[in-house]
Amino acid sequence: MANPKYKTSRSKTRRRRSHLKLTPPQLVACSNKDCKELKLSHRVCPSCGTYNGRDYSSFLHIKLNYRKEKDSPGVNRSEVEL
Ligand SMILES: [Zn+2]
Repeated sequence: MANPKYKTSRSKTRRRRSHLKLTPPQLVACSNKDCKELKLSHRVCPSCGTYNGRDYSSFLHIKLNYRKEKDSPGVNRSEVEL
């Protein structure tokens, strides 16, 4: 198997890793005038459950249950009903 000829220098490693940083998520205020909570853009608001003026809060409930079942061990994903 091919091996590197030289050890990667500390400088080279640090130059490579200078680009590995996380950026904070860009949040926007919810367009629901009763809510105005900060949320991810183009996502249903997790606080009031509206998107584009329509109520999707019942779907938020389903997604939470789905995630709970997916994380628990021994559950086949194909058996989880949405
Ligand atoms: Zn909202």
